[in-house]
Amino acid sequence: MNMPGSDDSLQAPVAPNYRQAEFLTSASKLSQCPPDTGWEVAFAGRSNAGKSSAINSLTNNKKLARTSKTPGRTQLLNFFTLTESQRLVDLPGYGFAKVPQAVKREWTRQLENYLQRRESLRGLILLVDVRHPMQPFDQQMLDWALAASMPVHILLTKADKLKKGPAKSTLLQVRSSLKPHAELVSVQLFSALKHTGHEELISVLNRWLTDSSVLDDPAVESDDSA
Ligand code: GDP
Repeated sequence: MNMPGSDDSLQAPVAPNYRQAEFLTSASKLSQCPPDTGWEVAFAGRSNAGKSSAINSLTNNKKLARTSKTPGRTQLLNFFTLTESQRLVDLPGYGFAKVPQAVKREWTRQLENYLQRRESLRGLILLVDVRHPMQPFDQQMLDWALAASMPVHILLTKADKLKKGPAKSTLLQVRSSLKPHAELVSVQLFSALKHTGHEELISVLNRWLTDSSVLDDPAVESDDSA
């Protein structure tokens, strides 16, 4: 490439092998995140939404999401490398019961910061239990992402817990309620248990993690200060 200032890290990568995900680092604020370059996709969801199960089944690696639940690692952001320029990020759901209000407020602030300022973040996978779709936390995450023009793909998790008809009708209902944001928001059913919905998820991840449109943007070195 002949672009001024271009380097190897700015060449659009190919789709990664999700089974090669490896724990990289944890961070509790933006300033502790790895360098803000390349392509990153974050997973968010309330506690118990099925995020660990989804990440495990995507990466075929039970250790990864368990890493995020290890005491001391339950920080705001857990980074996993896929390739040199591609990462997954686990945003631990709130286990509100034992978290003091002040901690919760600080997490909230840092989450918002991350979603709105992280340049390498290409999209947000929002995991929502199909039986309790779009609770306040989910709406908040969605609002922040939309405020940053960030694409969001919603997984309605544990789809196996509902019969096909009710699952489908929840899907259509959520999709229809988000129609005003259809350019940025997509929704699917997912079951880690039954291994359904993987292909659809992977095709979204692949699209975001290989998005070369960012290379046309003369942007934007972030200074990561938060
Ligand atoms: P996290 O807190 O969001 O990481 O949620 P986990 O992945 O730990 O899942 C919470 C609970 O939901 C666990 O008991 C899982 O076994 C269960 N679970 C997760 N995914 C599925 C699924 O696809 N189907 C069913 N039936 N249960 C699930």
